[in-house]
Amino acid sequence: MRHYEQLRQQPDRFIVVGHAACALNPTYGQGMTVAAIEADLLDQFFQAHGARMSGHTRRLQKHLAKAHRDAWTLSISQDDRYRSTEGKQSNVMTHFMTWYSDQVQKLVVEQAEVQIAVMEVVHLLKPSNMLFQPSILGRVIKHLLHSSARS
Ligand SMILES: Cc1cc2nc3c(=O)[nH]c(=O)nc-3n(C[C@H](O)[C@H](O)[C@H](O)COP(=O)(O)OP(=O)(O)OC[C@H]3O[C@@H](n4cnc5c(N)ncnc54)[C@H](O)[C@@H]3O)c2cc1C
Repeated sequence: MRHYEQLRQQPDRFIVVGHAACALNPTYGQGMTVAAIEADLLDQFFQAHGARMSGHTRRLQKHLAKAHRDAWTLSISQDDRYRSTEGKQSNVMTHFMTWYSDQVQKLVVEQAEVQIAVMEVVHLLKPSNMLFQPSILGRVIKHLLHSSARS
């Protein structure tokens, strides 16, 4: 992921989309969805502003970055499991996401609501914070408490 949205000086009317900004691991099949979400954002922008992009470049690049951030976090939190993964050392947040997604995965087989939430997040229909809504978080905590009481 390249943070064009954080450039101190961004060329006016120059925006970066798709793999040029965020190249996801193809294994997870998210790239086309992210590209479609970005295309939709661009469409909304041009519907609202016409061709007047000047002065809006940074804001638009920030919106685009937001659109692929979730997919990127999901992708690297899975890649983080493999020793062969190259790149920057993953941070605490990535480790936590990997651990939390393992806890959620333990529930998907038996709990339909959790399964639906996971599918919606993985297919980028809903943001990943959906998995932290009280009904899911509560089940995760309950499962953890139950497991530790048994061991
Ligand atoms: C093996 C593999 C499997 C994948 N499977 C899936 C999947 O199942 N589901 C999914 O959603 N996504 C999948 N993806 C990801 C998806 O293909 C990409 O996210 C998507 O194609 C990115 O679109 P893009 O337009 O940003 O880049 P690209 O599709 O790579 O398009 C960039 C284009 O720019 C051209 N180009 C490059 N440099 C120049 C230059 N200097 N001048 C002119 N033209 C240039 C290239 O030739 C290319 O045509 C997969 C990717 C790979 C590699």
